Amino acid sequence: ANGLLAGKRGLIMGLANDKSIAWGIAKACAEQGAELAFSYQGDLFKKRVEPLIATLGSSIMVDCDVSSPASLDALFATLAEAWGSLDFVVHAIGFSDKNELRGRYVETTPANFAMTMDISVYSFTAVCARAEKLMPNGGSLLTLTYYGAEKVMPHYNVMGVAKAALEASVKYLAEDLGKDGIRVNAISAGPIKTLAASGIGDFRYIMKWNELNSPLRRNVTQEEVGKAALFLLSDLGSGTTGENLHVDAGYHVVGMKAVDAPDI
Ligand code: NAD
Repeated sequence: ANGLLAGKRGLIMGLANDKSIAWGIAKACAEQGAELAFSYQGDLFKKRVEPLIATLGSSIMVDCDVSSPASLDALFATLAEAWGSLDFVVHAIGFSDKNELRGRYVETTPANFAMTMDISVYSFTAVCARAEKLMPNGGSLLTLTYYGAEKVMPHYNVMGVAKAALEASVKYLAEDLGKDGIRVNAISAGPIKTLAASGIGDFRYIMKWNELNSPLRRNVTQEEVGKAALFLLSDLGSGTTGENLHVDAGYHVVGMKAVDAPDI
């Protein structure tokens, strides 16, 4: 195969449907010659992701609940058996009780705080620990984050706290794994209408705000996140680790718009 990822084998985690950010990244990787394996969450998602995965000619798809260490072990055992080694992993997974993705952060419950941190933060570290063993020749590990980690966004609440911890973990993981030639990065994506995003209060308003106030004056697409992921996953990104690459139409650099700015 030709392409930026020709001869590379990668695991894509977090495909729920064709709106998933994982799908935008998977398509970009497949177009660039990567051989892909997928993990999905439970039987409910299996029916939806199976036909998608088939269009990319992938044969490995594994049910994996990242809150279960045994489930993660089984996933990586399958990959070890099928491939022996691995070049990259995309972790596009996050979860919180949607009742706490509205209203006030201060009312977050301890149980949901712990669950959100486990699934949305610790799972990436757990994945990196297992992937490292399959990357004797180096590799690239990528997770997805959001601006709500850096600044307060409406309703993002406990998820913002979790993404801040995820971004910090990317830096520590980059240091731990760097000497083995394994790079660890995040993409901070602008708001995109997906299943996970539909759980966030006033999400349409957040999208509209981003559209009106970002330098590019629009939202980004799954495909654009896919293109940025190619940089980090391929040799193009060989000098980059511990990075948080914003793919958000530039929204994160804006403090305030001029009153007479065009298009607002
Ligand atoms: P999505 O709903 O398509 O994907 C979320 C995935 O997480 C699903 O596939 C779901 O099955 C998986 N998941 C949740 N709990 C899991 C568990 N216990 N075990 C295994 N898988 C589990 O939504 P998405 O927007 O594509 O989300 C992907 C990532 O991108 C998330 O980390 C999200 O926070 C992040 N992100 C999304 C946006 C956005 O606006 N959509 C912006 C920035 C970052």
